[in-house]
Amino acid sequence: MSGLLKGKTIVVMGVANQRSIAWGITKSLHREGANLIFTNRQERSYQKLQKLLEDHHIEATLLVTCDVASDKSIKEAFAEIKEKVGTIHGVVHSVAFANRDELQGEYANTSRAGFLLAQEISAYSLVAIANEARKLMTEGGSIVTQSYLGAERVVKNYNVMGVAKASLEASVRYLAEDVGKNDIRVNAISAGPIRTLSAKGVSGLNEIHSVIEEKAPLRRNVDQDQVGDATMFLLSDLARGVTGEVIHVDSGYHIMGL
Ligand code: NAD
Repeated sequence: MSGLLKGKTIVVMGVANQRSIAWGITKSLHREGANLIFTNRQERSYQKLQKLLEDHHIEATLLVTCDVASDKSIKEAFAEIKEKVGTIHGVVHSVAFANRDELQGEYANTSRAGFLLAQEISAYSLVAIANEARKLMTEGGSIVTQSYLGAERVVKNYNVMGVAKASLEASVRYLAEDVGKNDIRVNAISAGPIRTLSAKGVSGLNEIHSVIEEKAPLRRNVDQDQVGDATMFLLSDLARGVTGEVIHVDSGYHIMGL
């Protein structure tokens, strides 16, 4: 441990299991000495998370329930964090959702309800969370979310989630301007494809992995640990001059043309 995050308290949202990107991030943050607060959508997910933490000898400062579909739940979660912990220095937003049947075929077939659902969980949630979290960031802070290339380019089957990620990345910029005056930074990592529970919902994932191995400058796929370290950088003071940014952790795939 080199202690880049020593004395910092960070809220990690989105650990579903050991394959989650948020779990890769957790390991990096723990290694650098952060105090960690975790939020789960449902209380019944606590057991799995607790087991994971125990297995890796990570002690959580607090576990809180937070369903990002609900403003009430978000407000209650941050009120509980304020009451039990007080000041925080960072938030990891690593949550997204879209209907599985809209992550295949034509984007043109997206339903109104499916569009709004993807936007609500995957993009608006960052806005609502940033607004609550900033009240607890009395010493400045850093908020980092997780995006994907589908925000910028047409990626087959990513469809409604790509449009939600575009909205998420635009939100990063607008939020960065709003909270910058309070020394709070807002950034995104745009990760290459990684096999997680959520990624399974996108059709044709194996094909994408092969394309990266063949075409990306580094000729390999990325993993949760690489995203974890880059997210850790953005949460640390090393990135104190970086805000409103989207950093690609994708073996360089996004720079390629034909
Ligand atoms: P994951 O399934 O492990 O994590 C998704 C998390 O979102 C889960 O913990 C789930 O409980 C949470 N979530 C969904 N709805 C929620 C709600 N209403 N309230 C609270 N939490 C909710 O998958 P992941 O791949 O680790 O995804 C994390 C983030 O990374 C997502 O934003 C995803 O779009 C993004 N991302 C993933 C990839 C990839 O290839 N896996 C690539 C780039 C970006």
